[in-house]
Amino acid sequence: MGVKALYPGSFDPPTLGHLDIIKRSANLFDEVTVCVFHNNKKPAGMFSVGDRAGMLSVISQSMPNVKVDVSDGMVADYAREHGIKALIRGLRAVSDYESEAQMAMLNAQLCEGLETVFLHARPKHAFMSSSIVRELAKYGKSLDGWVPREIEPLVRQRAGMLNGNRG
Ligand code: ADP
Repeated sequence: MGVKALYPGSFDPPTLGHLDIIKRSANLFDEVTVCVFHNNKKPAGMFSVGDRAGMLSVISQSMPNVKVDVSDGMVADYAREHGIKALIRGLRAVSDYESEAQMAMLNAQLCEGLETVFLHARPKHAFMSSSIVRELAKYGKSLDGWVPREIEPLVRQRAGMLNGNRG
């Protein structure tokens, strides 16, 4: 049986930084599940969970060992239920480190044997985040070099709808 990994996140929306982590994980593991985790008690993001999963499916289409899913549960429970032993997280700046270390410890405590594997962001993605993309999209700026080309129209369209149908 192959080694399965889980790449959890908000992906609101997916960026080129996320895509890079997905590709690198798909090279390391036999199967990678990219899962949109959402919490019904937290404010909804800019994109619906369905849209985010749809965008992730489009950008990972060429990778046969990548699956996309959504969950409103806990990451550790999802991993246990699906026989997943590795959690993938991307690390950008040192500022990511503290909360990521905390989460890794919690997840190891909640699911014995669950390891968090950190992949460093490539320098060109080090300052890339979904929140910057949301800001650019909201003001109608170019998303070239920020999100995969295939999802750019949808990101624009949704942001435009939120802005009163400009997109
Ligand atoms: P979360 O709300 O779980 O942090 P995100 O969608 O913002 O969800 O990020 C999911 C994961 O992807 C996190 O581990 C985050 O550090 C990583 N990540 C986000 N942006 C980048 C990037 N530009 N390069 C590498 N990893 C990234």
